[in-house]
Amino acid sequence: CGIVGYIGHRDAYPIVIKGLKRLEYRGYDSAGVMLYDEESGIKLCKTKGKVSDLEAKAKEGFTTNGNIGIGHTRWATHGVPNDVNSHPHLSNSGDLVIIHNGIIENYAPLKEELIKRGYTFKSDTDTEVLVNLIEEVQKKENIKLGKAVQIALNQVVGAYAIAVFDKKNPNELVAARLGSPLAIGVGENEYFVASDASPFIEYTSNAVYLEDGEMANIRLHKPIKIRKIKDDSLVDPYIQELQM
Ligand code: GLU
Repeated sequence: CGIVGYIGHRDAYPIVIKGLKRLEYRGYDSAGVMLYDEESGIKLCKTKGKVSDLEAKAKEGFTTNGNIGIGHTRWATHGVPNDVNSHPHLSNSGDLVIIHNGIIENYAPLKEELIKRGYTFKSDTDTEVLVNLIEEVQKKENIKLGKAVQIALNQVVGAYAIAVFDKKNPNELVAARLGSPLAIGVGENEYFVASDASPFIEYTSNAVYLEDGEMANIRLHKPIKIRKIKDDSLVDPYIQELQM
């Protein structure tokens, strides 16, 4: 399983697809991608099967333009491998998009609570619970994505590497990790997010590895902001020079 994200000036689609292929060694049963462009908004393509199956599906009318994208290979833990359970997952409003590797162990009580508040679920995944929990927190508190992700993650028991996108603020990705690896590639006016550096090594040799329990606000034309999920304390990003 693996995650890839891109935000910058290039076409995101080929970067995400090539990145997912580099992460294939991690094993997976499904693959999916989200692209965003101003004109058409959020576009999703996902399928059970290989990254090559995803590419084949995308050829049937999926428009691949957009300078922001996230991609995922899934190793199913909650819900069988099928198209609907594949990531990325949308929140009920359609504003938030998430990719997630790992497990939300307490998804059942969280899901029950969200259903009481009127949320509906398309998939059987624990991940769709998390993206709607983030949405509920964001709405209730009227806060930005990063803060909502942080509050939601503090209610979660489990393991995760996630990347979250909010179309209300489309120049940003929020990433977080606990128990699953996550690297951020720092380029010039562009950022990459991935399970390891292999998806972005050809574009930049500068990388920040998130530690367990950390999250990052990755915004275009701004330095990355890293903080501890638990206590909100800021962490100085340590940018490593990778050996090409
Ligand atoms: N638990 C999530 C799911 O089953 C993520 C699995 C993964 O790590 O790919 O959809």
